[in-house]
Amino acid sequence: MIKNLFTHTLWALSLFLFANNSIASNYFDKNESCLQVADIMAVENHFTQFQDFTKTDKKEVCRSEVGDKWFEILRSTLAMQRLSLTNKLKENQDDALTLSPIQEKDWWSYYTHRADSYSIEPSYCNRSKSIVAFVYRFFKGRIHLCPRFFEMSVSEQIEVLMHEVRHFDGHSHVTCTQGNENGSRGACDNDIKNGGSYAVSVQAGVELSQIDQLSDVEQILSESSAIYTINNKFNSLPQVRATDYLFAANKKGEVWKIHTEDHSVPVKVTQLNDPSYVYANGSQFTIYPLNKNKNAYRTFRYFQAQAKSIGQFAMMYNKANPKERSRFGGANYYGLGTIVKANTLNSICGGELAALEFPYGAIKALPILKSSQNEDTLFVLSEAGETYQLNCDAEKQEMALEKTQKDLPSDALDIFAFDSQTAYVLRDNGTLSTFDLLQGRYGQDLNYKNDWVSLTPLKIYNVFDQIQKRK
Ligand SMILES: [Zn+2]
Repeated sequence: MIKNLFTHTLWALSLFLFANNSIASNYFDKNESCLQVADIMAVENHFTQFQDFTKTDKKEVCRSEVGDKWFEILRSTLAMQRLSLTNKLKENQDDALTLSPIQEKDWWSYYTHRADSYSIEPSYCNRSKSIVAFVYRFFKGRIHLCPRFFEMSVSEQIEVLMHEVRHFDGHSHVTCTQGNENGSRGACDNDIKNGGSYAVSVQAGVELSQIDQLSDVEQILSESSAIYTINNKFNSLPQVRATDYLFAANKKGEVWKIHTEDHSVPVKVTQLNDPSYVYANGSQFTIYPLNKNKNAYRTFRYFQAQAKSIGQFAMMYNKANPKERSRFGGANYYGLGTIVKANTLNSICGGELAALEFPYGAIKALPILKSSQNEDTLFVLSEAGETYQLNCDAEKQEMALEKTQKDLPSDALDIFAFDSQTAYVLRDNGTLSTFDLLQGRYGQDLNYKNDWVSLTPLKIYNVFDQIQKRK
């Protein structure tokens, strides 16, 4: 009996432990509905606002009791505390994605040395929907959070918090002079090597993309975010280590990857549910099924998981009915980026969707070629074989066309060049060829059948390729 009793006690004890475990919170899960009071108490001497939520006899406090906004603040702060960094990256001055402006091995200590309070949606947030969070450099400690912060994923929130506290070290922003946000005030840094807030965003994105505490989707979101930041948030374009690939989609819905330095071995990457036009945008693919009854969508690299945010072009497309959708022509996400509807070019210019009628006949293709500054630049090729550069005046939110002397093939459907010499072309007859931009004539045929429907380039960054290989 005694033995039995003992066993019972053990059972009770282990059940108790089990029960206790089952309420342990996962602070990296957006869907978590309750938080441990003891965990909040452990940080409330520093974040004194949190003391409002610990005056309870209960073991946990739930979303409905603290309200959605405070819940998100508590959860993301506790997630930050629990982050275990991999610190695997070796700094390489030639690869800006490996730079670590925050050298501390412990972000929590870096963070808590700079932040001690939060404010929720102050009126300044109303100035623009694009404001996620902000700080006043001379009122150290307080982070102001705007509506968008609360909708963000866990990894994005951590990145934003690290970005904001970097401002307390004396870093501010400047007007963007290149990239997707060209002309936007206070939305860029000059140089990643200055180690400002966007350099911290990049470091956070790269690091978070490797942390196993985050879900796969969160990891890919972090990668996408670092890639967007590196390309669009520095006026001096950072040097990175990457390999250029082409992604070609065919009539069967297959997507193939072609190495630009070795065309001989294309690799099949995926089989889509529906044959589609596939356009890359730097780290994701936006996919427009040939069947106009199907919606456009966006996937991550390697075509795993669908992205929540599909971009303005796909949104515009999806709003149209199938009949209207057949009036859409090609799209391109590089350079200024544009989607063609009938004979109108729709681009994001000065932060807003802007439209420009193309007055020179039918639009044949949207070539992306390198400018003399080596930036991706969007051109419009007319059916008559004339080439125009599409420009955006960000201040006035106005677009304009400028005729150029470029000699491009008139049977091209998609054209892309990684340098000023060679372009890759998808031709009317469904074949892929190189095109010599200096000589103005076709080079070699890439000879992998002739049923291609779209061709798009994608840079794969060494940093993320290595991470992928490790898995
Ligand atoms: Zn900032």
